[in-house]
Amino acid sequence: MAVAYDPDNIFAKILRGDIPCVKVFEDEKALAFMDVMPRADGHVLVISKTPGRNIFDLPAEALSDLILRVQKAARAVVKGMGADGVTLHQFNEPAGGQSVFHMHFHVIPRWEGVALRP
Ligand code: ADP
Repeated sequence: MAVAYDPDNIFAKILRGDIPCVKVFEDEKALAFMDVMPRADGHVLVISKTPGRNIFDLPAEALSDLILRVQKAARAVVKGMGADGVTLHQFNEPAGGQSVFHMHFHVIPRWEGVALRP
């Protein structure tokens, strides 16, 4: 699996400030912002600042940095949204459900008995 990274993907544009986002967290390694089509209230995307298409090509150190920011986001959405848990989604390549080809995690707050929106 070796598909080239496209620097014109929408999340790269968000990182460059070319298109807006509702930012919830940023540091030197990652950016977190609200998903425009949330599967639940408080659905956040956490993206690496290192260019990488998905799990197959993101360098190991960047992946380690990213998952630590995902943990931070998960704790924050539970606290901020009063959620009972979180669901993480991470998709790789079209067959894996990926539609934006810049490495990211979905952090989705969950409440007991409440299904995700389609
Ligand atoms: P899927 O589209 O199947 O969820 P991805 O994991 O590639 O696959 O997710 C891309 C996500 O990015 C979608 O949840 C979509 O709503 C979100 N998204 C697309 N464009 C933007 C944007 N400009 N700002 C915020 N979120 C976006």
